[in-house]
Amino acid sequence: MARRTNSVGHRTISALFLSALIFTLSSLTGAQTRPSAATSPRVPAKPKLVVLLVVDQMRGDYVDKFLGQWTGGLKRLVEEGAWFRDAAFPYAATETCVGHATISTGAFPATHGMVANAWWDRKEQKMVTCTADPDPSVKNTGYAGATPKGADTAWRMAVPSFAEELKFQTSGATRIVTFSLKARAAITMAGHKAAAATWFDGGAWVTSSPYGTLPFIEEQAKSHPAKADFGKTWSLSLPESAYWYGEKALGAVPPDGWDLTFPHPLRGKTGVGEPDGAFYEQWASSPYADTALTELAEKAVDVLNLGKAAGTDFLAVSYSSVDYVGHEFGPRSREIQDILVRLDKDLGNLFAHLDEKIGRGNYVVALSADHGVVPIPEDMQKTGADAGVLHLPELQERIEKAVEPFNYAKPAVARISGSDIYFAPGVYDKLQQDHAALQVVLDAALAQPGVAAVYRAEELRDRPATQSPAHRAMAFSYFPGRSGDLFILPKPYWLLDGTPTGKQRSYGTGHGVPYNYDQHVPVLLMGFGIQPGQYFQPITPADIAPTFAALCGITLSSRDGHVLAEALKRPAEAPLTQQARPKSALPSGPNTNP
Ligand SMILES: [Zn+2]
Repeated sequence: MARRTNSVGHRTISALFLSALIFTLSSLTGAQTRPSAATSPRVPAKPKLVVLLVVDQMRGDYVDKFLGQWTGGLKRLVEEGAWFRDAAFPYAATETCVGHATISTGAFPATHGMVANAWWDRKEQKMVTCTADPDPSVKNTGYAGATPKGADTAWRMAVPSFAEELKFQTSGATRIVTFSLKARAAITMAGHKAAAATWFDGGAWVTSSPYGTLPFIEEQAKSHPAKADFGKTWSLSLPESAYWYGEKALGAVPPDGWDLTFPHPLRGKTGVGEPDGAFYEQWASSPYADTALTELAEKAVDVLNLGKAAGTDFLAVSYSSVDYVGHEFGPRSREIQDILVRLDKDLGNLFAHLDEKIGRGNYVVALSADHGVVPIPEDMQKTGADAGVLHLPELQERIEKAVEPFNYAKPAVARISGSDIYFAPGVYDKLQQDHAALQVVLDAALAQPGVAAVYRAEELRDRPATQSPAHRAMAFSYFPGRSGDLFILPKPYWLLDGTPTGKQRSYGTGHGVPYNYDQHVPVLLMGFGIQPGQYFQPITPADIAPTFAALCGITLSSRDGHVLAEALKRPAEAPLTQQARPKSALPSGPNTNP
């Protein structure tokens, strides 16, 4: 395992560099002892604003493929920033909630506990989403008069986010503001509480009670609602010859009301009348949603004066539309190529705005993705490679049939969700003692087309030492109580699909397995304290939060990720500042912890 060996060596170098940094800084401060009212020790300056950008489902190779067509913010990140070309999630559960929580906390799912977008709750005997909060005092609330259902918070996230730690460990003046179309992205990036965590639901911007509601979002929701884009059309933005792939993506399943070919009109299901559910699906699958998120982020900077107050502020945007487009049209589509061209322009505008308001070099940006995506199986099959659809309902039937002769409760399987198999209460405990029955279950699972291996929970607990990358990835994803009893590892290029038997698949492709097409994502850093360049050492997106923490001078509890020291400016180049006495933005309460 070259990856492991490299990263050990690399960590040693990082540790040496950090010791050197600390030594240099202490010599510097030592040379300026006896602080007076006028001069105090020089310490590393802090960024005024930390900006986290996540592009949902952006594969790492999109940067290599399409960089030549970008002129805006994505290009600037590569040219002026640090580009980590071999960044990949090391775990198996490559899903949205998991990836965002990993980026935001610097921990793997085995630590932060967000093991999937949704999992089987053994106590409740039902599926729960990663953000669903059963506390009756919590409620989702809408802007511009919207009345959303549900209650979503970060209560299931077992460690604080970087942003929460930043606010807690500094003067408390940090403002935390996040935006996304998805609750599981906006919430995990923010943490348990925030000035604002805003997402999109049923045509409106919404939040929930632990997060603040801000007047400028209300104003924006009223003056620039999504429905104002009704009637617009998404057309190709480059000359036709610039596109890599054919007009129609093979195996694509576009939203209702759209053809397989450009242009894509935002006119709902029928093409006439008022915005309907199909229109909002089209809008979320179009560049217009990315632009709406960018505008909200720019407004937040202006109205809240982010980056200009006492503390380091935190702004995060998760751009969801690449994910919707990828599920519908696949990674080999003109739609993916075009939406990235448009996102590049949005990000160019956002960075220009930050330069103007906060000043180039005063803020630090990281851009990454929560996971990649597998090619549409029917498209991949054309190459002659072994690719296909791993049909989960069929797998479930097979397992039920296999245990039938062994006198188990019926149904024996409570749920198969992604690669996790959950048995009915008591069944797996019994199977563990009943080797003949367990062997029959494992054999039945292995007989399902597309299954490469099956892991048992006890093989994944406590992060066992192993040389197998897949086994290690499964273990990094395992969180006791939430993860399944058995785990399916599909063969490469086999799509896990839960569509009921006899029904047509309602999407093109997906993600969620420990192969590089799902794990490899971009990691780009730019701005305050960042040494530009291309970096080839293997890293993970869990390294982003520790790197932010190092730049802000705080400590994260988890050590799953590490500081990307190679991309930090050396002590001689790093900005130093006169230390100011921290001004607390919070009223000082009684000291209960003397
Ligand atoms: Zn995602």
